[in-house]
Amino acid sequence: MADAPQTGKPKVAFYWCASCGGCEEAVVDLAEAILEVVGAVDIAFWPVALDFKRRDVEAMEDGSLAASFINGAVRTTEQAEMAQLLRQKSKLVIAFGACAHLGGIPGLANLWDRESIFRRVYLESPSTDNPDGVLPQVRYEDDGRPLTLPGFFDTVRTLDQVVPVDYYLPGCPPTPNIILQAVRALLRGELPARGSVLAPDQALCEECPRKDSKPERLGLVEFKRPHQVLVDEGTCLLAQGLLCLGPATRAGCGALCVKGNMPCSGCFGPTSRVRDYGGKALSALASIVASNAGEEIVRIFQQIPDPTGTLYRYSLPASLLRRRREVRAA
Ligand code: SF4
Ligand code: SF4
Repeated sequence: MADAPQTGKPKVAFYWCASCGGCEEAVVDLAEAILEVVGAVDIAFWPVALDFKRRDVEAMEDGSLAASFINGAVRTTEQAEMAQLLRQKSKLVIAFGACAHLGGIPGLANLWDRESIFRRVYLESPSTDNPDGVLPQVRYEDDGRPLTLPGFFDTVRTLDQVVPVDYYLPGCPPTPNIILQAVRALLRGELPARGSVLAPDQALCEECPRKDSKPERLGLVEFKRPHQVLVDEGTCLLAQGLLCLGPATRAGCGALCVKGNMPCSGCFGPTSRVRDYGGKALSALASIVASNAGEEIVRIFQQIPDPTGTLYRYSLPASLLRRRREVRAA
């Protein structure tokens, strides 16, 4: 790419790692406000939208980018290298979205290891036709020409497990409102202490329009799924038996899912006082079941389909366990 004109505006970069692309879409979701952003900064690297190359970043002076917004978890060697390169070139690195912040949906792959993922995807899946059992190689010679692929790590990591991160923009994806607030704070030099999550440090229930209908004592006897309930639009979803994770989740999204009659699934992650999101969510739910009898508690919790995928949907790599631990017989 040709050298960018010298405008004197702060330069920012956007990059994606193991990501669905939704966080890149979230930038476009700023709608007219994107004009405010591009009027105030120069986008010096955004490979999903414009033809930037890695060598463009390598040619930059260290620290010359005001901020890099990196979305997605870290799954491959290429993503780890780009995260390290952008860290070197940036004054601030911002983990953008649930996958960079906590591991996100790609982090659920930590329930398996590389070998079993490759076996399933390249050998066993019903649509695979791979009679020679070829698996991805990081290096392959074709007629004397070397071909390379990024290495695939055994474990998915959050961005801050790979490089130091200055700020976190939570959400799957972050909402236009919190993106804009973060960009404005960055431009005005009004960012909070490094390491902060740029969203209110309180539970979602505090900003939920249904909070006044949430009883003091809930006493749940069953958990229901959204398709099993004719939802009352004015009543707390948890009080209706829906597994709403608002009590364990950081506020800031404006309760968008709850306003759409869908329970919160926890994409903003925990508040600063919580170390393990899934543990906190489980403890919040355990405190509202209407029984002290072991068997009855087990019966109620068995109604939660896929407990790990429900309680750690966005945060398995950031959890205390980080991944499934297998104990193999000697
Ligand atoms: S945080 Fe959500 S929207 Fe962003 S990349 Fe991950 S899955 Fe996609
Ligand atoms: S549990 Fe869910 S629906 Fe109820 S007040 Fe909290 S966020 Fe709102």
